[in-house]
Amino acid sequence: MAYPAIFLDSCCANRHNVGMKTHKPINVRRPEVMARVRDRVQQYDSELVDSIRANDNVLRLPGLEVHLAASFGFCDGVKRAIEVAYATCSMFEGRRIWLIGEIIHNPAVNADLDAMGLRHLPWDLNAPAYSELTEEDVVIIPAFGVSVSMRRKLEEKGVQLVDSTCGNVIRVWQKVRNYTKLGITSVIHGKAKHEESQATASQSCGEDGKGNFILIFNEEEAQMLADYIAGRGERDSFLAHFEGCYSDGFDPDVHLAEIGMANQTTMLKSETARIQNMLRAAVTERDGDDLRFHAFDTICGATQDRQNALFDLLDKPLDAMFIIGGYNSSNTTHLAHIASLKLPTFFVKEAECLVNLDFIRSFDVKAKAELEVALPPQAADLSRPWRVGVTAGASCPANVIESVVRRLAELRGCSLN
Ligand code: SF4
Repeated sequence: MAYPAIFLDSCCANRHNVGMKTHKPINVRRPEVMARVRDRVQQYDSELVDSIRANDNVLRLPGLEVHLAASFGFCDGVKRAIEVAYATCSMFEGRRIWLIGEIIHNPAVNADLDAMGLRHLPWDLNAPAYSELTEEDVVIIPAFGVSVSMRRKLEEKGVQLVDSTCGNVIRVWQKVRNYTKLGITSVIHGKAKHEESQATASQSCGEDGKGNFILIFNEEEAQMLADYIAGRGERDSFLAHFEGCYSDGFDPDVHLAEIGMANQTTMLKSETARIQNMLRAAVTERDGDDLRFHAFDTICGATQDRQNALFDLLDKPLDAMFIIGGYNSSNTTHLAHIASLKLPTFFVKEAECLVNLDFIRSFDVKAKAELEVALPPQAADLSRPWRVGVTAGASCPANVIESVVRRLAELRGCSLN
């Protein structure tokens, strides 16, 4: 099935900056600014979560045991992006401040920033909002980064850019740019609509805009690509399936001669490893060796740590798992998928999803919708503690984790001060 039309404004890196008025990049996280926004940033902390963490990640109450993963919640990249957003609001008070999309994929954080009057720019460069921008505007680039063409457009407008792109994302861009310099086509394992994947795809087009990429989402699409590389594909159906997910001028009969893999930083590590093996095997089948296959691991450390910690947590005797985070968060979705293979798993964005001990509202990753689902019978069995595991994606604040833990305790009739 082909993707719906998506915005892959990829190959515009060859535009020049002639006549552009650009502000210099600015560091907003200055000590005096951070002192002013300390309270707003610290609202996402949680003493309760800290105390559970200090107690070997376990909270034991008469009717409830909560086992936290060893690694969960905010990563350094997200913490930095949030600090940048609040610091920008403080430093440029009185100016129009825009965010491209969301600063991170978390509804609580985004709602708070919205309440401060932040405006949003859509990811579609053709949107009317871009024509409104002037040199007086301030634009925050989110942690996922932006495509080359979007950055150019903002520079052309002369806005003050404040960049919170995560260093791990920039590391991926460096890798795909190196591929492009060597004439290697980037195969990007990621979600075609995800901002980070789009930005990485645009980087892989290189300085002259002539580099190539193809985006694949899962093992099924990797198999289609592997089959094509090994000479078993059919050109028209291949191009139709991946429409909108490859660079301008991409020719599978030419541009798959030498490939290099990269990932969206928040993909499932085990799936990425399997996809690498599939594509390496396809190149080897075609060439007799794997010299024209390249790969490096670009899943970020925070994502890996959270996935590994969840695997460890799932080894414990638990009754259910709660995964907390925004439903459009890639790394959180992968955590929910991992847990669902082992235990009844509930993916919630906030405490209000826990309606009662009979049912809750949980995001179904396959249906891509929040559904009302029944809790397992142990939830209502008050004869023994209900043992639940809890983890959260890299964009989930500790105070949201605390509210979910408090709601679990409340439902089980436990007192928690
Ligand atoms: S999940 Fe990884 S890549 Fe994304 S912001 Fe956090 S550290 Fe950076």
